[in-house]
Amino acid sequence: MEGVVKYDLTFSKSKALKASVIVPVESCRARLYAMGLIGAYPDGIGYGNISRRRRGEHFVITGTQTGHLPRLTPRHYALVEACDDRSFCLQASGAARPSSEALTHGTVYGLSPEIRAVIHIHSMALWRFMLSGEYLQTANVEYGTIEMIEEVIRIYSDTDPLSNPIFAMAGHEEGIICFGRDMDEAERVLYGLLADYLQQ
Ligand SMILES: [Zn+2]
Repeated sequence: MEGVVKYDLTFSKSKALKASVIVPVESCRARLYAMGLIGAYPDGIGYGNISRRRRGEHFVITGTQTGHLPRLTPRHYALVEACDDRSFCLQASGAARPSSEALTHGTVYGLSPEIRAVIHIHSMALWRFMLSGEYLQTANVEYGTIEMIEEVIRIYSDTDPLSNPIFAMAGHEEGIICFGRDMDEAERVLYGLLADYLQQ
C-alpha cells in the first residue's frame, strides 16, 4: 500500500531545509498538484512525490504523507543523505520524514550522475496509455520491493536513461516515473507524455 514506508530509515530530525533548495521542486509540484497528478485518494492516502539532486548522492524529496497539501514549505521536505537499495537502508534528515518512495528515487539517481530531478506521479489514464503502448515499463512487481529496484535497473540496462527518461510501474497501479538533467527537463518529459496521450 502506498504511504507505507518499507525501507529501513535512519532519520535525524533537524531544522527545515533552506527555502531556496525547494523552490524549483515546489513550483513544479504546484502545477502537478493542480492537474491531480500529485494528490490524495478519497481515503486520505497521498500519492506522487518529487525529488531533486543536491550534490553527490544527496537529494531533497517531498515528505511522506504530504500528497493532500496543495503547497508545501521547507518543513515538508527531507534531505536523503545515503541510500542503499540493496540493503533497503536510507539515511535522511530534515523537518519531515522522506516519501515512502524515496528508495526508488535513489535507484533512479544511481542510473546516471547526470540525472538531477525525479518526478513520480499517479494517473490511471496515462498509466494505462503507457502500458498499452511502446513505453518502458517494469514487470508486474510491487513498489518498494527489491524486485521493483531490479526492474528499474533492468529496463535501463541496455538503454541510455536520459534518452528515454520515463517509465510506467506495471505493478504499482497508476504509477509513472520520469526524470531529467534538471527539474524543468523532467517536467517537460511528463508533458511530452501528456501531449502523446491527448493526440492518440
Ligand atoms: Zn506511487
